[in-house]
Amino acid sequence: MDKGFVYLVGAGPGRADLITVRGAEVLKIADCIIYDKLANPALLKFARADAEIIHVPKRTSGASVTQEEINRLLLEKASAGQTVVRLKGGDPCIFGRCAEELAVLIEAGIGFEIVPGITAGIAVAAYAGIMLTDREYSSQVVFVTGHEAQGKRDSSIDWHLLAKFSGTIVFYMAMGNLNSIAERLMENGMGADTPTAVIADATFPTQRVVKAALDDISEKCKQQGIEPPAIVVIGAAAGSNTRLNWFMKKPLFGKNIVVTRDAVGNVDFAAKIISRCGNPLKFAAIKIKPLTETNEFLRTLAKITEYDWIIFTSGNGVTIFFEALQGLGKDARVFGSAKIAAIGSRTAAKLSEFGIRADFVPSVFTGKELGIQLISYANLRGKKVLLLRSQLASNELVEILDKGGAEVQDVAVYTAIEQKSECVWLIEKISNSRIDWLTFASPSAVNGFFEQIRSDLINSAKVKVASIGPVTSERLKTLGLSIDLTATDHTLDGLLDAIEQTYKV
Ligand code: SAH
Repeated sequence: MDKGFVYLVGAGPGRADLITVRGAEVLKIADCIIYDKLANPALLKFARADAEIIHVPKRTSGASVTQEEINRLLLEKASAGQTVVRLKGGDPCIFGRCAEELAVLIEAGIGFEIVPGITAGIAVAAYAGIMLTDREYSSQVVFVTGHEAQGKRDSSIDWHLLAKFSGTIVFYMAMGNLNSIAERLMENGMGADTPTAVIADATFPTQRVVKAALDDISEKCKQQGIEPPAIVVIGAAAGSNTRLNWFMKKPLFGKNIVVTRDAVGNVDFAAKIISRCGNPLKFAAIKIKPLTETNEFLRTLAKITEYDWIIFTSGNGVTIFFEALQGLGKDARVFGSAKIAAIGSRTAAKLSEFGIRADFVPSVFTGKELGIQLISYANLRGKKVLLLRSQLASNELVEILDKGGAEVQDVAVYTAIEQKSECVWLIEKISNSRIDWLTFASPSAVNGFFEQIRSDLINSAKVKVASIGPVTSERLKTLGLSIDLTATDHTLDGLLDAIEQTYKV
């Protein structure tokens, strides 16, 4: 049997999109992915559906996988001919026991490649605005492990040298020993007032920064409940100008935002929130159920070339329609010369993924505006119009098109059904004021959510409610909810824009 191959990949410091392009590429081809506690599990989205995923949470103490077991696992998988990705937090070669893992492979004659990653110590510079080097105050940087600080005598760290170091000192794995690290530096002559910063959960929406003098940092971290993983920066750099901290100043930074779409939609929405530095919490309130096997749908498809206009009112409708087409061995050519309208930019973008350029998109993304604007754009009198949309969509659009003289057929491509989700954690967070926003992107999500969570809990708790548009807001009002915000641009981005706006003065 051919020997396998191992990619030792740096996952980056935390936020999933900080992995390298090469790292993401090799994740896509792996037969087996062995990943660490510090590697963001969101990166597994790159994995092949049939890839074997093995989590090896390595801790310094307690029951967990030992380094020897990991080495054995790597050898076993690669010897079986697999392409293995060993995914490690940050950069694999910085305090990553990289050489030990490679030694085993080299001995067994197994090929490997190292894909570097952004190490946590470097990431804090960017994400906490702490410049590790600066022409004014630091021309050198040193990375140190804080893990060795306790066993005083056998430490390989030259404390005397470190205490005199005139640049920036970056400690990894230091939280357990922070007090003794500070003491040893001071014992060796470092000033008690040396600026020190601790950055926990760097690059995540939960990132925290504590700044204090060296002799006070340990106490301050304790008071503020700072927990690992954290990087400790010592030296003038730690006192960097807070104006450089762009990340924590983002309007959605650290905001806990609950998304309530279907599971797939939630992933999409969560990614948008993360890219704006917010913290999404996924609660699937609904499940999307295709209705493309019904006789009505199949009959409509058979005569689809008879329609003058075909209208899509959601990205879901587009995706499900095209999936059904594909299943029947057909493609976008079924539309013939029919014109296509989309309710908004997102639906139009989805259509373009399938090679269709929407002929019409209204300026305001609601069913009502779509109807009114389409009538004035195209003379629909006597024209055959097909709506391919959710079974739950309101009748307003049909009525408007009817009035415009169109011959309308409204065909359900999918429906949303309520989904039971584990909700104890969410109720607890809402009750403890740990949630900033609840978001709703459709009336069916409102229904699904409040089937499971009492509306009076929301009204009495300190949580704000944001709705994507008037139809969703109407549904919320019917249930007695007080709405803090209805987006004026009825897209997910519009909803997030509106939430961001509330934090801008
Ligand atoms: N190879 C990793 C480091 C592994 S050692 C890298 O290059 O980043 C583990 C230490 O890394 C933690 O104790 C902590 O000091 C640091 N670390 C990793 N991820 C971090 C994060 N998101 N925020 C702060 N520190 C982090």
